[in-house]
Amino acid sequence: MYIKNVNQNRIIPYRMLLSATSAIKELVERILPENGVPSMRIGLEKLELILQSSVKKAEDGLPVVGYHFSFPAEFLQCFDCVPVCVEGTSYFLAAFLEGGSEKYYDLMHNYGHPFHTCTSQKGTMGMTLDNLFKFDSLITPAAPCDCTIASYPFFKHEKEIPLVLLDMPFLREEKSYEYYANQLKEGLIKLGKVIGQEPDFNKLKKAIELENQVNKLKLEIFELIKTTPSPISNLYNAISAGLSIFISGTPENLSYYKQMLEIIKKRYKTREHHGGEEKIRSIWPYMITFFSIDLMEWLDRELGLSVLFDIFNYNFYDPINTKSDLNAMFYGMSRKSMGLPMVRQSTEFFGPFIEYCINFAKDFSADCFIYTQSIACKQFGSVPQLLREALKEEVGIPMLLIEFDAGDARMTSLKSFKEKISMFTQTLS
Ligand code: SF4
Repeated sequence: MYIKNVNQNRIIPYRMLLSATSAIKELVERILPENGVPSMRIGLEKLELILQSSVKKAEDGLPVVGYHFSFPAEFLQCFDCVPVCVEGTSYFLAAFLEGGSEKYYDLMHNYGHPFHTCTSQKGTMGMTLDNLFKFDSLITPAAPCDCTIASYPFFKHEKEIPLVLLDMPFLREEKSYEYYANQLKEGLIKLGKVIGQEPDFNKLKKAIELENQVNKLKLEIFELIKTTPSPISNLYNAISAGLSIFISGTPENLSYYKQMLEIIKKRYKTREHHGGEEKIRSIWPYMITFFSIDLMEWLDRELGLSVLFDIFNYNFYDPINTKSDLNAMFYGMSRKSMGLPMVRQSTEFFGPFIEYCINFAKDFSADCFIYTQSIACKQFGSVPQLLREALKEEVGIPMLLIEFDAGDARMTSLKSFKEKISMFTQTLS
């Protein structure tokens, strides 16, 4: 067994997250009625199990591998390791703790990292600078954005942590998918050498098959959201986003979506809305407020505004072929990776994005779009105005634009979000 770095304190932020998850889960169970926010109740239960397992594995001395959220977690199931999602940690802590990850953003600012970079990486970078994380290695694609590329070398240069960087092409063509398939395979082999393990491709295959099933269930849920009123709660989007990047490839993830589908089907049949009455149907084509996911519940209950989906909940992929050979499987993994949330949007030209947003507006009977422009996502800064014009012209619906930082309430606060959205809804007839 790998015993390079055995001590109890290699993943302190995961321990913090585990404590916060357990505390919130207990509150949800004790205070909310049995059927209150099931996505939260069930999601926290699954997250807690995975965090407990991660903490135990770290105590047992397994290598700690940090991964970018656009490197699907199930791909790491070919190793006996502790997978730690860099971006997920920053944002889950931002959502669950008072003051969130702000202390760690500021540590990085003082260190010299620019204030306008992505907080999704900056939180975990600050925690690593503060020696709360002791990674054995990190793996990331060269996507989706400059912030990713400019941030990950910090781990290598400041903390001398081996970094496996996968070169993801910009173009969406056959040769690109084949190239990235090779990058994935070589990257896993390279990572294996760093942590002293051979990748077990049979284990990988099982995890991928499990995620193929998850993808199917998510698609079924997505179809049901077309109905009025929406049968999901707004919080489903936040929890689903978190679980997808944190626990994919585990039976707990599959179990979450199975349970959710049953609940959502019931709501679909009874035409029940989580907030009581659906008055407005909105699509958030980019991110929700991770620094305060309670905004989702407030929108449901106070404004009757449904968030039908956000960027993490409308990207799907063709099932990965695990039945032929390894090449076919890696090809499917490549296609999935290059179509993931944010990767798809940020590395594609804006034409397709605008086109499918228009189709979503029509197919899901949306009354409006709410576009959150993150200070970090510069690659997407020119898109909102084009999208706003296209939605007005093609569908006749308005779009509210809010500039913010997804993980830092100090830029645009929860109060400010509520005011802006309340005023906007008054303009909708
Ligand atoms: S695309 Fe935007 S939100 Fe996503 S990692 Fe890059 S800067 Fe952060």
